[in-house]
Amino acid sequence: MTDRILTAGTIITMEEAPDRATAVAVADGVIVAVGTLEQCQAALPGAEVVDTGAAALAPGFIDPHSHPIASGGATQAPAHSIAPWDAQSWDDALAIFAKTVAESPAGTPLVFAGFDALLLEHPAPTAPELDAIFGDRIVGILDNSGHAVYFTSAVIRAHGWDAAPPADPVGGSFGRTADGALNGQAFEIPAALQVLVPIMQAQGGNPIVQAADYYAWMARNGVTSTSDMTYEDDYRAAYELLASLPSSPLRISMWQMSTTEGFADPVEFAAGEQRLVKRGVKLWTDGSPWVGNIGISFPYLHSHATEIGGIDGSKAGMVALNYTRAEVDALLDRAAPLGWSMSFHANGDLAIDFALDAYERALSLHGLLGTDHRWRIEHVGAGRADQFERAARLGVHVSMGPFQYYYWGDLLDGAMFEGEIGSRWQNFRGAFDSGAVVSFHNDGAVSPPTPVLNMQTAVSRRTQRGNVHRPELVATIHEAMQAHTINAAKTLGRDHLVGSIAVGKLADLVELSADPYAVDPHALDDEVKVLGTWLGGERIDLDAFLSAAAAVPAPGGAHG
Ligand SMILES: [Zn+2]
Repeated sequence: MTDRILTAGTIITMEEAPDRATAVAVADGVIVAVGTLEQCQAALPGAEVVDTGAAALAPGFIDPHSHPIASGGATQAPAHSIAPWDAQSWDDALAIFAKTVAESPAGTPLVFAGFDALLLEHPAPTAPELDAIFGDRIVGILDNSGHAVYFTSAVIRAHGWDAAPPADPVGGSFGRTADGALNGQAFEIPAALQVLVPIMQAQGGNPIVQAADYYAWMARNGVTSTSDMTYEDDYRAAYELLASLPSSPLRISMWQMSTTEGFADPVEFAAGEQRLVKRGVKLWTDGSPWVGNIGISFPYLHSHATEIGGIDGSKAGMVALNYTRAEVDALLDRAAPLGWSMSFHANGDLAIDFALDAYERALSLHGLLGTDHRWRIEHVGAGRADQFERAARLGVHVSMGPFQYYYWGDLLDGAMFEGEIGSRWQNFRGAFDSGAVVSFHNDGAVSPPTPVLNMQTAVSRRTQRGNVHRPELVATIHEAMQAHTINAAKTLGRDHLVGSIAVGKLADLVELSADPYAVDPHALDDEVKVLGTWLGGERIDLDAFLSAAAAVPAPGGAHG
């Protein structure tokens, strides 16, 4: 590998000293000096000097909570998007449906991702409504939360579920008519995947190409490391293949679903743990704020928005919790002694309490309190300052979803919840002040992979429509940068390798068009563009990566 010295207008190291530099020396993919060009040349004599041309060079962005392969299948062609950033209304969605039906051969199974009842202002569809649009086609519509799937009667018939309706899987459920027949709705991941995965397989796309397209989307937005928070062993071959392609742009850490066989078993990846590594086990306490199935101590409001969104409050509260404490305790007792990082999805305040209660018991029982265990809690939409403080005391990392506030913030404040509570959603200030390790994520495909937009949201509390709720709860730009670099690296257990520009770490970098510390925080996403990424000292060439992915035959051949 070539020894190189990279230069840029400024280099943001995300270290305390030096916090800034103008050159970084890289040998065999590893950083050997950070400082001035002269200092780097002294450390690495004769190395090629490459002016990146970037106004700023920073550690590659890290999205510590994603689902890259599933997101590829759900969002990249041949899948279609009706997400809030692609369709602003149900009429827009209907137009996308009509265009897709017209342009695809009759009978082709179709997947649409991104349905959001609240933002599209249309109730979640059932099979009869979808049958009227799609006729006899196999069609699955993934809710934007990822926690529900809506499907046509053809799907029900293809599984033989019209004759024999399936039982609800552990941690999930099917919508049913009064007589117990399926109504074309599936809720929570185990049920949703049971419906969606066969449709994704049947729609005829190459999942490797779709995943590669998603990797490339993340890379174009500056991401160099991420995770799969719904890992299962069926994904292993695809991850290995993608890691083996030239200029493969991502390092990926796996959290295996607690609902899968062998969730606590070790996994060895041929690509090596710098590329692919299993780090932990994923559990869900509650569901999605936009579906209405989160564990909250306060009510959803009865409003025009919640009525259309089908949120009547009956699925919220303690009933929203997906496990009993005894079930969770058993899972934690099996995984904790093996050293896995536990990750708990929790949006509502009750769900967060439930997760922290279970964590406290298990951490203490297994002698992990006060150790560097890196257990984590995800999304924390309604999280309060005192809950973040408790997480910090337990050593639990907090991974936030700024996109919740960006897209739904105007509804949260007064339409979904009392303003007093809803306006505090994604309480960045409370989280950082707690002293917990705080990271940001996009939870692909719940929102597009946009670290810079997440940072803008955290430092401005500006929603998509330009409104600001509780400006005092903003983070600083430095905190926001930490959340997508060094803090996210800590949460992934990769901070010894990446997350800052420091001697001994891998040269994973993002080239930026402007210094994020020097622009108007409200305009971060307009002012700071990603120009490219580097992984292990090599500039990522997405054309090379994507053309290699396109040459991979579809596994098992396309069918359907
Ligand atoms: Zn997720």
